[in-house]
Amino acid sequence: MLNIVLFGPPGAGKGTQAQFLSERYGIEQLSTGDILRAAIAEKTPLGLEAKRYMDKGELVPDEKVIGIIADVLEARRDSKGFIFDGFPRTTPQAEQLDAMLEKKGLSIAGMLLLEVPAEELVRRIMLRGQQSGRADDQDESVVRNRIAVYEKQTLPVAEFYERQNKLHRVDGMGEIAAITQRLQQTIDSLR
Ligand code: AMP
Repeated sequence: MLNIVLFGPPGAGKGTQAQFLSERYGIEQLSTGDILRAAIAEKTPLGLEAKRYMDKGELVPDEKVIGIIADVLEARRDSKGFIFDGFPRTTPQAEQLDAMLEKKGLSIAGMLLLEVPAEELVRRIMLRGQQSGRADDQDESVVRNRIAVYEKQTLPVAEFYERQNKLHRVDGMGEIAAITQRLQQTIDSLR
């Protein structure tokens, strides 16, 4: 099994790159953002609650997202591995993920941090908003709040993996294919 955390600020390209990498390595992309947006579209209780946070650019409470991940790990026990995209976003989420994997005799092979400057993030997200129609990509103040939330609540997760010698920084600027190449080289060095 190969389990990778793809990490970085909103707009760094995690979703795009996770798709390429899941095909390349035959592992599943597990995006909490995608799962939450699907729950919103289906108007489930989880979706209705999550929407209140997502519309403001705030994080959905830990126990909700950890529950999502626990359900997927249980349902997909025969998987060849996962590329976690947008999870973990807080230190308690990272701790719980380690605990859940450990119970199954598994672990995270590495965390890949896509580095992109803040102004480029805003530019990319606003552009994506014009095409995707994602509510939280439309409003610049919400976009800036998501970046602030990332810096305050999510960046400590990188230190969590650094303490385990699992943090790998990858330049997230340039051509999409060049970034994929850098990520692949890093993953190949882990195996
Ligand atoms: P994303 O698609 O990863 O950019 O996530 C969009 C939004 O979903 C975030 O701004 C959060 O409100 C929520 N979200 C996604 N993943 C998580 C997570 N692991 N923890 C808390 N909130 C999350």
